[in-house]
Amino acid sequence: MCGIVGYTGDKQAASILLDGLKKLEYRGYDSAGIAVREGDRPLEVVKAIGKLENLITKTEGGRKVLGKCGIGHTRWATHGEPSYKNAHPHLSGNCEGNGAVDSCVVGVHNGIIENYRELREKLQRHGYVFYSDTDTEVVVKLVDYYYKKYAHTPVDAIAKTMVRVTGSYALELMFDDHPGEIWAARKGSPMIIGVGEKESFVASDVPAILSYTRNVYFIENCQCARIAPGKVQFFDLNGDEVTVEPQKVEWDAASAEKGGYEHFMIKEIHEQPCAVRDTYNSFVKEGKVDLKSIGLSEELLKNLTSITVVGCGSAYHVGMVMQYVIEEMAKLPVRVELASEFRYRDPIMNPGQLVVAITQSGETADTLEAVRLAKKRGITTLSIVNVVGSSVARESDYVLYTKAGPEIAVATTKAYSAQLMAGYLFGVELGRARGVVSQKEYEEYSKELGTIPEKIEKILEGKERLQWFATKFAHSSDAFFIGRGIDYAVCMEGSLKMKEISYIHSEAYAAGELKHGTISLIEDNTLVIGVMTQPDLYEKTIGNMAECRSRGAYLMGVVSYGRYDAEDCSNFITYLPPIDRRFAASLAVVPLQLLGYYIAVARGLDVDKPRNLAKSVTVE
Ligand code: GLU
Repeated sequence: MCGIVGYTGDKQAASILLDGLKKLEYRGYDSAGIAVREGDRPLEVVKAIGKLENLITKTEGGRKVLGKCGIGHTRWATHGEPSYKNAHPHLSGNCEGNGAVDSCVVGVHNGIIENYRELREKLQRHGYVFYSDTDTEVVVKLVDYYYKKYAHTPVDAIAKTMVRVTGSYALELMFDDHPGEIWAARKGSPMIIGVGEKESFVASDVPAILSYTRNVYFIENCQCARIAPGKVQFFDLNGDEVTVEPQKVEWDAASAEKGGYEHFMIKEIHEQPCAVRDTYNSFVKEGKVDLKSIGLSEELLKNLTSITVVGCGSAYHVGMVMQYVIEEMAKLPVRVELASEFRYRDPIMNPGQLVVAITQSGETADTLEAVRLAKKRGITTLSIVNVVGSSVARESDYVLYTKAGPEIAVATTKAYSAQLMAGYLFGVELGRARGVVSQKEYEEYSKELGTIPEKIEKILEGKERLQWFATKFAHSSDAFFIGRGIDYAVCMEGSLKMKEISYIHSEAYAAGELKHGTISLIEDNTLVIGVMTQPDLYEKTIGNMAECRSRGAYLMGVVSYGRYDAEDCSNFITYLPPIDRRFAASLAVVPLQLLGYYIAVARGLDVDKPRNLAKSVTVE
């Protein structure tokens, strides 16, 4: 789950590599390294443990390392502790790399080589000596082994390696007798290649190359590529050249920068009105939700018999909201499953079922496997994805692209909100196509959804109050989020935000469940946050809040304007602009995101890069 970058062209590579790694630092950050080469001079390798900043200092921003071709890596360890010897780049030679080194092959890798033990033993029998604990060193040495065996042709050496290894990888390699070239191979892990006029780039994700070029290639699984300045060629497993069509990235480079905000997370929270509006506008034309543009026919929608939504983390929580909304609006059974569970069950799937996969990056390994499983069983798949051309997008039958733009903070906010919007639009259209939602309701719902961006803006205007509240509770050790129905789904997301960035233990409970156990955890000053946006369930949750209050809890309520009676049983209230109850999740989540953010800031934590977490989980 690391970040990899590569550059070959007419400029000094090191600073471009470091700049690219900075944009990818959210993917992994326990050590970092670069390997750079000037013409056919010996390779220079510099690595540093800890944050990327250490590598930047060590190389004086890249100025100390000369050369116009190079590769780089920020690591999120899977095999071997975070340490100098395990940091990438890895070498086919016997040293772990420091300064000028003599090595036939050098490489960086994102992913996991599953059969690395067996390969390592094989290579040891052939005289290879290993200096690290990583699976990456094994794959680099395996390439070296085949390279020597197959008369120094990178294509054959890489193709043979790809056949031999199992697992996932985005691999960048440099060969000592191919100066100026980077070789790339991919299976499972994300990788894009950008080509400019006299230069080319490789990276794990678009933001790393956005300020240099918008012409990108998405390398397919089990393909390898030869990347030279301004030119790229692709090869299949047989070593035959294949054609890959370039694509244009439309994201704006400035949206991948902090733009004056203290953290990416707060910037992205503020970008939500825009992300939601852009997603809405890309599917709603003249008041009508248009899904035909993505190929989803009315016929298909009418004939569906059930829906399974799969996702991980926040995407799963979007699925929870969709379950409530779609069951009501389209009268269709909906089940939500964690992708990591779905893929290892033997789920019952029927023709007429639709599997909806939700993932921001489109590279979440578990979600991708869930899509593959559904496809293998002949089930139609629809994905809700933010990154154009990503693996899940490519492998699903239909794609609803969210328009959140690049999301950098590890804790998702704007991508979650954009996914919710996509889910609502899908639900409304499905309800109409199936004749459950009348024409009048359809028009009302479509219009109501269009008001969400300005209502989010309104909530953001009141952020100072939440900041004050968050500072007061920054030292809590536990928090409980309670709600019923859609509010419960929102609580799950609020609780996740709290734990992932502020490290406070928090739980989301369906409010009706409190009395079945949880309430024994409530004591003096325990923070309980009640989400109450559903008119029919309001009194019930208020009752549960009162129960918590009697046991000493400190209560925060999230309610719609007008429910002033909530003040009687809450110590602190956040009011939301009025909205159709089905769409309330889009508003209720915002104060909870702000709460999580401000508590983390008050605790002095690294909000954008919480410990132990990485942005897109491209390994199991
Ligand atoms: N498996 C490699 C390592 O542990 C790469 C991990 C990653 O993708 O972050 O170094």
